Amino acid sequence: MVPIQMVDLKRQYAKIKEQVDVAMQEVLKSAAFINGAPVQQFAAELQEYLGIKHVIPCANGTDALQIAMMAIGLQPGDEVITPSFTFIATAEVIALLQLKPVFVDVDPQTYCLDPAAVEKAITPKTRAIVPVHLYGHSADMEPLMAIARKHNITVIEDNAQAIGGNYTFRDGVVKKTGTIGHIGCTSFFPSKNLGCYGDGGALFTDDEELAARIKMVVNHGQSARYYHDVVGVNSRLDTLQAVVLRIKLQLLDEYIAARRAVADAYDAAFAGIPQITVPYRAPYSYHVYHQYTLQLNGASRDELQKYLQERNVPSMIYYPVPAHRQKMFAGFGGADFRLPVTDDLTTKVISLPIHTEMDQDQLAHIINSVQSFLN
Ligand SMILES: *Cc1c(COP(=O)(O)O)cnc(C)c1O
Repeated sequence: MVPIQMVDLKRQYAKIKEQVDVAMQEVLKSAAFINGAPVQQFAAELQEYLGIKHVIPCANGTDALQIAMMAIGLQPGDEVITPSFTFIATAEVIALLQLKPVFVDVDPQTYCLDPAAVEKAITPKTRAIVPVHLYGHSADMEPLMAIARKHNITVIEDNAQAIGGNYTFRDGVVKKTGTIGHIGCTSFFPSKNLGCYGDGGALFTDDEELAARIKMVVNHGQSARYYHDVVGVNSRLDTLQAVVLRIKLQLLDEYIAARRAVADAYDAAFAGIPQITVPYRAPYSYHVYHQYTLQLNGASRDELQKYLQERNVPSMIYYPVPAHRQKMFAGFGGADFRLPVTDDLTTKVISLPIHTEMDQDQLAHIINSVQSFLN
């Protein structure tokens, strides 16, 4: 059996090697490493795919979040509501900009921001809400947008784990995750659902004014060449990454289907096991399974991990320490937040391998391993 990885990027590359190698050679020959034509071509293709007016590429997903917060003009001390149960970048940029992270608990089923808890956390200083579509499942955007409208708050979606996912509104309208809030942010880190071969990221918006500001911020606050209107950053997607992304965007729906097939097999295999809660699929969310993360109840997670490791099955804990309990946020009153669902999930979740190249032998071996540990 081919060794099992959490994500198998080598086998994925092998399938598109010829196309990628040719495209990369063309970039090398052109020497247009920065702002080569493929960067804007990719942005246009992603706009089309997402059904959004503006895609602004940048250097990584963390930058995208920071740039979004800079573009809406947040001031030191402004409050930003975010989950604590997320990758650290979401909360880190809030602190970096000297804003105040307000950590809110997640829904125990979806692992995403709980709209009722968000409503309770709003104060006159709240300026933004940053929902995270964790593991590829959409946050419940419709109530979150209603709260934001009522209080005149900007919504920045952290879509780093859910590109290609959908959200269905109560009236049946379907939108891609990342295109529902005022700004969507994503990462093209290699292991993400749409990943390049280095670092990359992007911002999405339908708002002309926001798009213009974001374009300024990513490029040294520049409005015309050598005229700098606001303090910005230097954050670009390079041309070599753009050609990889153009090729992989064509395959994104296939990649998602492959991930969902793995998730379906896991769901079916684990349905009858009392110690396992399989990932929830809310009716409004088209889950793209960036991770397949189950909850373990009444069994030792450490023992399971050890057992799996002995059988060459990798597993990961995303995330062992929630943001509000990180030392980084000690000075922000992090530990004062009461987030019982987040704390509970932190001790129970475990993610199994899921990727676009999983074969039946591997899948059977992982499933057998989990089943035999719990029997
Ligand atoms: C990966 C990720 C980011 C950061 O993306 P980078 O490209 O690594 O900077 C931000 N938020 C979430 C939820 C992520 O998973």
